[in-house]
Amino acid sequence: MIRLSQFMIRMGGFRAPSVFLVALFTLLATQVLGQHQSRLSKPDTIFIGQFLTLDPGYPQAEAIAVSADRIVAVGSRSEVEALANKDARKISIPGVALPGFADAHIHVEGIGEQLERLDLRGLSKAQILEKVAGAVHSAPPGGWIYGEGWDQGFWRPAVFPTAKELDAVSRDHPVVLGRIDGHSTWVNSKMLALAKISRDTPDPSGGLIRRDAVGDPTGMLVDHAQELVSAVSPKPTHADRERHIRAALQQFTRLGLTSVHDAGVDLDTIAIYKDLLKRGELPVRVYAMAAGDAARTHYLTSGPEPDLGHGMLAVRSFKLVLDGALGSRGAEMTEAYSDAPGEHGLQLVKDAELAQIVSAARHKGFQVNTHAIGDHAVTRALDAFEKGGVTREERFRVEHASTVTNDDLSRFVRLGIIASIQPVFVGEYGRWAEDRVGASRVHWVLRTRDFLNAGVALASGSDYPASDSGSPIATLHCLVTRQSADGKPQAGWYSDQRVEVDQALRMMTAGPAFAAFQEKDLGSLTAGRYADFTVVSANPYQTPSNDLRTLTIRMTVVAGKVTYEVGKN
Ligand SMILES: [Zn+2]
Repeated sequence: MIRLSQFMIRMGGFRAPSVFLVALFTLLATQVLGQHQSRLSKPDTIFIGQFLTLDPGYPQAEAIAVSADRIVAVGSRSEVEALANKDARKISIPGVALPGFADAHIHVEGIGEQLERLDLRGLSKAQILEKVAGAVHSAPPGGWIYGEGWDQGFWRPAVFPTAKELDAVSRDHPVVLGRIDGHSTWVNSKMLALAKISRDTPDPSGGLIRRDAVGDPTGMLVDHAQELVSAVSPKPTHADRERHIRAALQQFTRLGLTSVHDAGVDLDTIAIYKDLLKRGELPVRVYAMAAGDAARTHYLTSGPEPDLGHGMLAVRSFKLVLDGALGSRGAEMTEAYSDAPGEHGLQLVKDAELAQIVSAARHKGFQVNTHAIGDHAVTRALDAFEKGGVTREERFRVEHASTVTNDDLSRFVRLGIIASIQPVFVGEYGRWAEDRVGASRVHWVLRTRDFLNAGVALASGSDYPASDSGSPIATLHCLVTRQSADGKPQAGWYSDQRVEVDQALRMMTAGPAFAAFQEKDLGSLTAGRYADFTVVSANPYQTPSNDLRTLTIRMTVVAGKVTYEVGKN
């Protein structure tokens, strides 16, 4: 545990009302950094520019001083510079700095996998075939070609493609191309043969193998029929997984993320994180939620790992998935779907098992983070927490909390349960949520302002790649405008749920920090906290809300180190 014996001093005159110096000389306890710090630590780096600290004590600053991985002073440029030796590094920040953006719900490995697939979004069929041909050319013999994001809606004629068209560019490599919505996959004949899909293969339950006039598969696999492909696709090796995770973490630095909550990892993934940490190659803080029986069994024996490597990695929570998704009618609803009479969605974990896991987790000091999207799943999560005696200090979370009744809204507050929300879903939900739940329930969907007004602790994330974007800029834009990434609808989808820029930024910084028990170390630019910040192209408080989506990331700093700088990576 890090204990800082600290005292704060204010130095110099107050030149501008909002810019004054708050310096923290950290008398670091020896267990923090080793032998040589029973003395005042001098800053080794000074960052200079415009800082919006999100610390109500001193909201703006011109410079911050960093010693090792922590902020030791925040204030005016001259005052902060006066604290440092001549040899301290000085770095001018290329924009406006905010506390580091965090994503409270993201899927790291899935993003890494996606980065290696062909990106087919917005392409014509001819362009796609050309791209596949190029990939075939550089692939090892028989190597699999993956891609995703095609949409026949852009083509003329707008008809589903066929295996034969892919065969023209790839006879020997299996080709697997997911449609933009993830609900259908276009494959070639090599893939059909590997998956043993023929005229005689029946449609699996919940799935469809599209067929031509004589009953032969055309190469289009819909919904559960896609599992015929995943059942035979090669499992990623440990090296593949490490490569995917590294690629995703690098992507996060470009997105301006300094901290991510990985929403469901197994022991192999945790081992990869520990390895990267040991080698000093973890560029983003990771709050890993352990998922699955094996990981839970392991951690219920060994206990939590709340702080590995100065807050770079933590494993102290379990992820559970109570229901499915709303778009595919898998979210567990109390009343039936408005567009599918009799359907209530899926119940993936039963109450008895949930109660047992909550109890075991509490006993060992683990937080429980339950995916719950439908109103009934949310109710079941809150019931389990309430009956299990969960206290607000344990900070249990509902991931998504996408459909929440008024009764449950107040239960979040009363029980001190955190809502971990993904505002970027507004774009997608705006297209079909009202169909799924009808006019009387649509006000329960993707509530944000209601949560805030009620006093619910909120942490925002993206669920990327299950959503369209892992960009914190997209999250900020959605929170403030309730528009999709392309700015629609102009007035915002249920615009009564819009929040202010300041509230949005707190949900993206202090919110996730609290949800990860890291609020003393992260969430604002304050002396004593880790030096994590994100530099954006303009002051979001002074940007018209419809233009927030045009902000760009100029620099990302984690633990005092620049992990991304525009034009340099
Ligand atoms: Zn998720």
